[in-house]
Amino acid sequence: MFVKKGQPYYRPDDRGDKYPPVLTDKHHCLTPRCRGVVHKKREHSPYCTGCRRDMWRSKNPLKYAFGNLRRRAKQRRKAFSLTFEEYKSFAERTDYARLKGKTSLSLSIDRIDNSKGYEKTNIRAITLRENSRKSFLKFYARQTENAAYEPSAGEIAEIEAKLKD
Ligand SMILES: [Zn+2]
Repeated sequence: MFVKKGQPYYRPDDRGDKYPPVLTDKHHCLTPRCRGVVHKKREHSPYCTGCRRDMWRSKNPLKYAFGNLRRRAKQRRKAFSLTFEEYKSFAERTDYARLKGKTSLSLSIDRIDNSKGYEKTNIRAITLRENSRKSFLKFYARQTENAAYEPSAGEIAEIEAKLKD
């Protein structure tokens, strides 16, 4: 059902489909149980912005995942030169699209060389368990380093002087 501009809007009756649609001054979203209102500039679609996004997401799961990855990379200030085509080929090669997720055995994208960003040749798929183990190993190495640290008398004096003022 597409609504033309300037025409009266109807919303489904809350009591169910047996009742005729109710005339309303607001253009309500067509999704059952959705309380959203269609944006004035988006009246070519009978759905609200949220439902349109959800529909786009389920239609283009890989594009949605790619957009998320790029956004998070930007937030974390990692270089990102991966194109969607490269990402798609990676996902097909590694079966990443099917195996990604939130459990410890789900696949995640790992940057092989940590100093480099997300590029075609610097990514591989490893399980989330392995990926978090990697960061734990780094943490553990630092802890061991700290435990083995033996300051010289000069260093101790320097730190104590700093603590005084
Ligand atoms: Zn909606």
